[in-house]
Amino acid sequence: MAPETLFPTTIAGSLPKPFWLAEPEKLWPDWRLDGDQRTQAQDDATLLWIKEQEDAGIDIVAEGEQSRTHFVHGFLEHVEGIDWALKTKMGIRDNRYVVDVPTVTAAVTRPRSVHGREARTLRAHAKGRVKFTMPGPMTICDTIADAHYGRRGDMAMAFAELLNAEARELEAIGIDVIQFDEPAFNVFADDVRDWGVAALERAAQGLTAQTAVHICYGYGIEANINWKKTLGESWRQYEAIFPALNASRIGQVSLECAGSHVPMDLIGLLPDKQILVGAIDVATSRIETPEEVATTLREAMRHADPLRIQACTNCGMAPLARSVAVGKLRALGAGARLLRGE
Ligand code: ZN
Repeated sequence: MAPETLFPTTIAGSLPKPFWLAEPEKLWPDWRLDGDQRTQAQDDATLLWIKEQEDAGIDIVAEGEQSRTHFVHGFLEHVEGIDWALKTKMGIRDNRYVVDVPTVTAAVTRPRSVHGREARTLRAHAKGRVKFTMPGPMTICDTIADAHYGRRGDMAMAFAELLNAEARELEAIGIDVIQFDEPAFNVFADDVRDWGVAALERAAQGLTAQTAVHICYGYGIEANINWKKTLGESWRQYEAIFPALNASRIGQVSLECAGSHVPMDLIGLLPDKQILVGAIDVATSRIETPEEVATTLREAMRHADPLRIQACTNCGMAPLARSVAVGKLRALGAGARLLRGE
């Protein structure tokens, strides 16, 4: 990315998996293939999405999480200390939905690389800058039960150490931006201030790559849509956590803005950060026009220096139809171009 590029474009994380790789339009799809065939198909899908992003004018390209079923469990599958057979019922995201989650029964370790293969594929084939996404420590702890650490903050710190080891490997591969996804930050503001930001900083410790945190209101699934209805006309969750984030060593904050009830002036609480403005709503299959994308970015410019703004999606696009995701990528690229032209 040339330094003079205004409004560099990027995505929050996931992209739909092609029908030949996994069940389409599902958040927890079954893979179509096994073993080496699955690995090859994941690499093929990664290549496809690098091309689609570059064709759409996305400047900082990601691998779209084509090698993981889900953004949290894709990481946890490679961690030891978790008993996957010991399911615990847990109301995650403060009881927004109840699921059977695996249980941590011993100190967690990372015996091997988790995402090295797909990161190398991404770096080998993308022409420009690349980013890689991983779950943040608090969100991991809100997706798994604890029968070992006793305090959630302690378990988060243990996972943060593993994330940091993985992040250092990704950085060595040549990843430019390492992002931690923390949707749980929007739910547990007190914990964010008590230990969430500290765990996040531990995960990013010592990195020279750009670091980012993504905080959203979730995928466009029914439980999230129903939860959003309870939040009222003005969503001010960010207000409680932005001061702590602005004081942190994390470089970028990725936010949900398009089609949401988040007052845009809240980004004024992040004067020292690069802001990834979500200008694509992932909770609808309607494809934004470039003008709509530009309008969202213009609104952000009223509260933050344009040099600190990147154009991004609200969240991952995994559950959307592939054609819709491609359309939204193109709208994002075209919207940023429109504004640069001005
Ligand atoms: Zn998200």
